[in-house]
Amino acid sequence: MNIQSGSYYWPTTLIDTPIYPKLAEDINCDVLIIGGGSSGAQCAYYLAETDLNVVLIEKNTIGSGSTSANTALIQYAGEKMFINLQNTFGKAYIFKHLSLCKQAIDDIEKAAAQIKRDCSFIRRDTLYFASHHEDVENLKKEYQLLKEAQFPLQFLSREDIASIYPFSKEAAIYFQNDAEINPFIFTHGLIEFANNHDAKVYEQTKMTGHAYHEDGVTIYTDTKQKIHAKKVIYCAGYENVELKNEKQASFVSTYTVTTEPVNDFSTWPNRTLIWETARPYLYIRTTANNRVIIGGLDDNAIYAEDRDNKLIHKKDKLIQEFNKLFPDIPVKPAYYLAAHYGGTRDGLPIIGQYKEAPHSYFLYGYGDNGMVYSQLLARIISEDIITGESANLPYYLQHRPKKKRNITCCLCIFINTTISLREAIVVYFS
Ligand SMILES: Cc1cc2nc3c(=O)[nH]c(=O)nc-3n(C[C@H](O)[C@H](O)[C@H](O)COP(=O)(O)OP(=O)(O)OC[C@H]3O[C@@H](n4cnc5c(N)ncnc54)[C@H](O)[C@@H]3O)c2cc1C
Repeated sequence: MNIQSGSYYWPTTLIDTPIYPKLAEDINCDVLIIGGGSSGAQCAYYLAETDLNVVLIEKNTIGSGSTSANTALIQYAGEKMFINLQNTFGKAYIFKHLSLCKQAIDDIEKAAAQIKRDCSFIRRDTLYFASHHEDVENLKKEYQLLKEAQFPLQFLSREDIASIYPFSKEAAIYFQNDAEINPFIFTHGLIEFANNHDAKVYEQTKMTGHAYHEDGVTIYTDTKQKIHAKKVIYCAGYENVELKNEKQASFVSTYTVTTEPVNDFSTWPNRTLIWETARPYLYIRTTANNRVIIGGLDDNAIYAEDRDNKLIHKKDKLIQEFNKLFPDIPVKPAYYLAAHYGGTRDGLPIIGQYKEAPHSYFLYGYGDNGMVYSQLLARIISEDIITGESANLPYYLQHRPKKKRNITCCLCIFINTTISLREAIVVYFS
């Protein structure tokens, strides 16, 4: 799968990038993580301080997948508004999801402080503005719902926005306490943390096959070795769908530009993260060393060649859109890329558990807040492995129940997955 192409900013920010060996012998372990991107690193982090014997394999180098392309806005609000998610799943379910997203962001902050490298985790507020008049009503409803869930946010009128920003929009939600991060250094930092706690890490080691047994899984590698694991966590990012086709996953193409450093951000209050209600949307952030990252203009290009052919045009368009918002901040593109971008049809990330793949978890942290979702899913999966049960697992399994559920739906979860009847009932009644 050709997931992305172009030039990448984040890898240039790490000078002494750690290097890990290729796997050179057959090994056994308690938990095998396949994929050394941010998701694999997040799983390794949660498992690091246990007695479990953990191994991580990466077919290229650590962080070289979509982790390098990630613009890394750390937010809980995503493409599907919570008012829409509430229609699909019900209020209690979505309030639970919101609280887990909040916990995931807090966990990212905690992990960022624990690792030895500075990954520029900075708390930032977000401005989410109405792109069109007809979006204002939904924005108000979204605000009310999130207020009810006790999230810190404000509703801004046209006058409020104009008094703070150099542009005019009819309305916006101002979210407090989101964040930004350098995802490449974060990923390396987490993997070093796990490695220092005895997790084994192998680069240039690709999984090429598998065999499922009663007591675990044997994974075959392109280095001609075998790894026998009691549990496997598949963290191959968007390439997970090549290992197990999950029907709920969907893909678009997206584009980003990282600019040369900017001298003066005085017209950009608090260097807020900014995005909008239009679909596809534009989003922007700044970096610790004063660059601007502009992303969006998603389209349905399926083939990598079509996606890549659009890159120059999309780069110019992203710069134009930024100039409309901040005409007093001159920007010059330095790095730009085109990438596949995964979401899920119902708007929530997925932990895939399949009868035909026992002892295994497929982490699909797909969606706008992939990094937050992966942190959330990694915590649940690790909890399930460490304690034998996670009460939050059923909320994210591929067959999670929708609002108009009935007993058949509940039984479906039970029959199609490896969770217990008790867990299926917990979700049914929540
Ligand atoms: C342009 C863009 C912008 C984004 N912006 C944001 C954002 O603002 N905020 C946010 O939260 N998320 C964002 N995301 C999503 C975020 O990038 C992803 O959620 C995150 O990078 C996923 O990490 P991952 O580890 O799952 O995938 P990856 O980083 O792709 O890692 C998977 C790894 O698995 C390895 N692998 C694959 N197959 C095998 C195999 N057979 N054997 C061994 N290894 C294998 C790959 O080489 C790769 O290194 C963005 C994504 C893109 C593309």
